[in-house]
Amino acid sequence: MTRDENGHPLKVSGVCFDVTDMKEGAKKDLVKLNENLLRSNNDLKQFAYIASHDLQEPLRMVSSFLQLIEKKFDDKLDNEGKEYIKYAVEGSKRMYELLNGLLAYSRIETKGDKPREVDMNEVLNNVKSNLSLVIKETNAIIYSKPLPVIFADNEQMIRLMQNLIENGIKFSKGVPQITISSSDTGDQNIISVKDNGIGIESKYFERIFKIFQRLHGPENYKGTGIGLAICKRIVERHGGKIFVESEPGKGSTFYFTIPK
Ligand code: ADP
Repeated sequence: MTRDENGHPLKVSGVCFDVTDMKEGAKKDLVKLNENLLRSNNDLKQFAYIASHDLQEPLRMVSSFLQLIEKKFDDKLDNEGKEYIKYAVEGSKRMYELLNGLLAYSRIETKGDKPREVDMNEVLNNVKSNLSLVIKETNAIIYSKPLPVIFADNEQMIRLMQNLIENGIKFSKGVPQITISSSDTGDQNIISVKDNGIGIESKYFERIFKIFQRLHGPENYKGTGIGLAICKRIVERHGGKIFVESEPGKGSTFYFTIPK
């Protein structure tokens, strides 16, 4: 800028670029990228559905014929043969569970209900009644503080809380004690499920939310490794986040947020 002797501006010089075309180009690129992302997301959803749904039928055939062989040729099979069949039956059962889990996972998006007002205290009552058998068997104690009414998919909230509480009971050491609390940050509700179980090393805090990722074999703790992946998908469908704080041997607390 050039000024006169009193410091008043006289003229301004500079270079001017017309960036309209550049902006248009970038906009087109973004739209295209978005379209591609949407397409691959839909392909993935479809893939998960087809994989889990259509593979169940041939698997059913494999397991029913295995059971037929087991019954019909029981006296002809030696111990080794019987053992092989037992492993094959177990394998097909496990695969059936995994496919079922994958199907449930893919249905979070496709079969979700519209959000409505959901009383989380009622959700908890539903969960306690669904889990009444395992609560009785393990003498689990479920403490709960008053929970909020949130805007969410009721069925998915039941599933989310049930998965977290079920894990708290499953990965317990001694009598399971589960505490459910909540807090309000103004623009979101945070709900937590705390247990007194075996705990988790911090290096696994991200991994456990991935599909089929487990830290133990099915011979120690039953399960398919899909429960927390389902929890994550439900929470993210509601625009929230899920995370864990834990120390091995000292229990874990799972938190999830639901925006208001
Ligand atoms: P599953 O319970 O079928 O194994 P999840 O996806 O629910 O699958 O959990 C994944 C893994 O995270 C579990 O196998 C376990 O190793 C770990 N985990 C989950 N919840 C807890 C918990 N409350 N305490 C300790 N470990 C847990």
